[in-house]
Amino acid sequence: MQGMQIPFENTYARLPERFFVRQEPDGFAHPEMIQWNASLAEELGIKLEESNALAIFSGNQVAEGSAPLAQAYSGHQFGGFSPQLGDGRALLLGEVAGRDIQLKGPGPTAFSRRGDGKSALGPVLREYLVSEAMHALGVPTTRALAAIATNESVLRREGLVPGGVFTRVAASHVRVGTFEYLAARRDTDGLAILADYVITRHYPEITGTDAPHIALLECVLRAQARLIAQWMSLGFIHGVMNTDNMAISGETIDYGPCAFMEAFHPKCVFSAIDTQGRYAWGNQPEMALWNLTRFAETLLPLIDPNLAVAKEKAESTLRKFQTIFEEEYDRRFRAKFGLSNNVSPELIEQGLAILEKQNIDYTLFFRELSWGEDDAVANLFEDTQAIHQWLSDWNKSAPNTQAMRCTNPVLIPRNHQIEQALQAAYQGDYAPFRRLSRALESPFEIQKEFSDLESLPKTEEIVPHTFCGT
Ligand code: AMP
Ligand code: MG
Repeated sequence: MQGMQIPFENTYARLPERFFVRQEPDGFAHPEMIQWNASLAEELGIKLEESNALAIFSGNQVAEGSAPLAQAYSGHQFGGFSPQLGDGRALLLGEVAGRDIQLKGPGPTAFSRRGDGKSALGPVLREYLVSEAMHALGVPTTRALAAIATNESVLRREGLVPGGVFTRVAASHVRVGTFEYLAARRDTDGLAILADYVITRHYPEITGTDAPHIALLECVLRAQARLIAQWMSLGFIHGVMNTDNMAISGETIDYGPCAFMEAFHPKCVFSAIDTQGRYAWGNQPEMALWNLTRFAETLLPLIDPNLAVAKEKAESTLRKFQTIFEEEYDRRFRAKFGLSNNVSPELIEQGLAILEKQNIDYTLFFRELSWGEDDAVANLFEDTQAIHQWLSDWNKSAPNTQAMRCTNPVLIPRNHQIEQALQAAYQGDYAPFRRLSRALESPFEIQKEFSDLESLPKTEEIVPHTFCGT
């Protein structure tokens, strides 16, 4: 079709048919583009008029070269195993420039069970804002190519709400749960094919090595350990780190009830469904290792035909997680506090303890510490004695504030701002969403026109819980 060329490849569609179910999108009568990510489109080599982009990414037109499918996967959700999840409200259109292009919310698939296969507009805009903010913050993440309003309603807990379709770009959508799907079916041949596939796509450096499956486990473990340390340094709480929401590529994926921590507390949790605090801020490394252990279990038959030997090898690899995570955490937090390697980590621990004790906003504290005067920092505290003492020690350690400014964001997507942008969108006003989205493109810069977005929620604006994107 004229002007509608997208250089699609279909490597996943060439994998064994039991890995997925082919499905064409239904389409919508009156879709409307809310946000098209032109710079990402350019990066991918997608040259489209916005009207053509609307037709393709609403699911109204299947682009030439696209072979849409719903991927099969399983997952451990809050510790319990669901043998069949799969893309119940998503379709992989194909790959462009080696990256997956996926529609979220285009309609039902073979995996939809009782769901409608659609998305509410709120979660679409939320994922757009947070995933693009994470990218701007330098975090490995899936990206947002388009947010579309369907101008149709979907039925959710809160009643009828406007619908949307989201276009997600990912290094791939292969999850720990994709391996679990094959392992649960004792499909060792399938596991070998999937392992080869992800090695080629994500870790080509280990192709042809003697023990590629142990090497794969170690690559994923390293990527996840780094990712979680980076999340924590930014105060990010994923909220639903189930194995189906952990990408083999090491990108952050599935922005459901995620949130940035405000008052610092290691047990901080926002997700309405995480009643036990399983995925609290400070629990994320332990849960990542738990997920990686499930991943390792799927690889056992590939690692060694002798189960005891395979287990021993997997366990010795899993034991590396702690050290890698701690090194990365130390590196990230030294950067946050501007401290060189020869300063005792006690200063970091003491600083965090004072924040915790006095419920200090995490982002604002580091923003003032990086950019402000000591007075501006102390003004955040009600009881200033402890912080004055700490600041005097910190100043003696010759902190590198220049470096801190590249690490500590001035702007993060705060829950109440996201909420306000979504509420306005539900009334048909997309301006607050677009403004927030623009501001978050440069999170490390002081932008005068967006200084209102630095502030904490007023009491009546506080969002106590976040919800899944269903
Ligand atoms: P998530 O909470 O996004 O990780 O999704 C968990 C599982 O539920 C996945 O298999 C989804 O495809 C499925 N799912 C979520 N929402 C819907 C929906 N509206 N319709 C059908 N399936 C859904
Ligand atoms: Mg998911």
